[in-house]
Amino acid sequence: MAFTKLGLAQPLLKAIKEQGYESPTPIQQQAIPTIIEGKDVLAAAQTGTGKTAGFTLPLLERLSKSTPKMHKTQIRALVLTPTRELAAQVAQSIETYGRYTHSTSSVIFGGVGINPQLARLRKGVDIVIATPGRLLDIASQKGIDFSKLEVLILDEADRMLDMGFIHDIKKLMKLMPHNRQTLLFSATFSPEIKKLASGLLNNPTLIEVARENTTAEQVSQVVHYVDKHRKRELLSQLIKTKSWQQVLVFTRTKHGANKLTKQLIEAGISSAAIHGNKSQGARTKALESFKTNDIRVLVATDIAARGIDIDQLPHVVNYELPNVPEDYVHRIGRTGRAGQCGEAVSLVCIDEHKLLFDIEKFIKNEIKKVDIPAFTPDPSIKAEPIQNGRGGGRGRSGGNKPRNNSNTATTNTHQNSRNRNRNRNRNQGA
Ligand code: AMP
Repeated sequence: MAFTKLGLAQPLLKAIKEQGYESPTPIQQQAIPTIIEGKDVLAAAQTGTGKTAGFTLPLLERLSKSTPKMHKTQIRALVLTPTRELAAQVAQSIETYGRYTHSTSSVIFGGVGINPQLARLRKGVDIVIATPGRLLDIASQKGIDFSKLEVLILDEADRMLDMGFIHDIKKLMKLMPHNRQTLLFSATFSPEIKKLASGLLNNPTLIEVARENTTAEQVSQVVHYVDKHRKRELLSQLIKTKSWQQVLVFTRTKHGANKLTKQLIEAGISSAAIHGNKSQGARTKALESFKTNDIRVLVATDIAARGIDIDQLPHVVNYELPNVPEDYVHRIGRTGRAGQCGEAVSLVCIDEHKLLFDIEKFIKNEIKKVDIPAFTPDPSIKAEPIQNGRGGGRGRSGGNKPRNNSNTATTNTHQNSRNRNRNRNRNQGA
C-alpha cells in the first residue's frame, strides 16, 4: 500500500516523502481514509505504531479542504495529550507534516508562562495541542473559543484517565459543539476508556492494530536476576561491555532517577535524568542531548518518559520494574519502533518477583531469564517491601505477598498508581 492511495493531497505527500517514509503503517492505512471521511474513530494504538501521523495527516488534510472565517480565539481542531512532552511531540509532527499546508498550530501546557500562550491564541491558530489542566485555565479566562471546533482528538486517553484528568476533560467537553468529529486513541480499552468513549464518540469506527496487552514482537526481552545493591554495577557493566550507545533507563522514582544518574556519571557514563521535578527547559535539553548522542544514558520515570519520540531506540533498561504492568508495555514500546529491532533488559531483584509475575501474566508471556554468573543473587537476601520514595515509606508491599493475593494486590496497585499519578500530575503542573 502506498501513501498516495490514502486520499492525502500533494502538500502532505511531499512532507511524508521528505520524512523518508516508504509506506503507511497498519494504523495509518486504516485511520487516514476513515478520518478524512469525517468519521469518529476509537483506536487502540500504542506509541511506536505510527499513530501520531495516523491522526495528524488526515487532520491536516481535512482542515486544508476549507477556509472558514474564524474570529480571534476560535480554533478548528484540538489535540489533548496527557503530558507536556507528548504535546510538544504532536505539535512537532503537525509542524513537520503540515509544512506545505496553510494550517497554523500552537502548543499549550503547564509549567511555563501562560501569557505568551494567550497572546498566540489571540493572534489566531487553527490547531491547538494541549494538556488538559492548562487548557482549562485558559478556557476559564475565555482565552480560547471552541464554538467553531471541527475536530477533537484525545491522544493516549488511557494515560489521561490514569493521571486524573477526567474531570478537566469533562469540563472542556461542555464547552465544545456536538457536531464535531472526535478521535480517541488509547493503548488499552479498559472499561473506563469504553465509558469515556461512549459519552464522547458518535458511532465510531473501531481501529485495532495494537499489540494490546502483548509486547512488540520486534523487541527482544530479557530478565537478569540481580541483588538490588548490585544493579548499578551490573548496568554499568552491560553498557560498557556491550558498547550500548543510547540507552533509556527506567526507575520508579524521581529520587532513584537522580541517584542513578549521578552514579553513572561517576562511573564515566554520560547520563541525564528526566522527571516531573525537572524544569521544562532541563527536560528538553536532556532529551535533545540524548537524541544527538551527546549523552549515552537517559534515566527517566514513567510519567516523564511518556510519549518520548526517539527513532530506532535500541536499548531500554528497566532498572526497577514498574508497579503497574501496563507501564512495562509502555516502557518497552520505546524500543523496536516502526519496524526496528530493539532490546529490553529488566534488572530484577528479589523484592520485585511479584511485579515480574504480574507483568508476565499481563503480557501473557514468560520473559526469558538469563543468568549473569558474576551477579547471581545472594540466596540469603530476603524480599523487602518496595518503597515508592514518596516520604514515609508508603510503598506497596508487593515483593513478599503470597501469589493468591494477586488480584487484590493488582487492584490496589492500580488505585495507588492513580492517586500517585494525580499528585505527580499536580507536581508537573501539566
Ligand atoms: P508514533 O507511534 O506516532 O509515536 O510514531 C513512531 C515513530 O514512527 C515516529 O518516530 C515516526 O516518525 C515513525 N513513523 C511514523 N509513520 C511512519 C511510516 N509510515 N514509516 C516509517 N516510520 C514512520
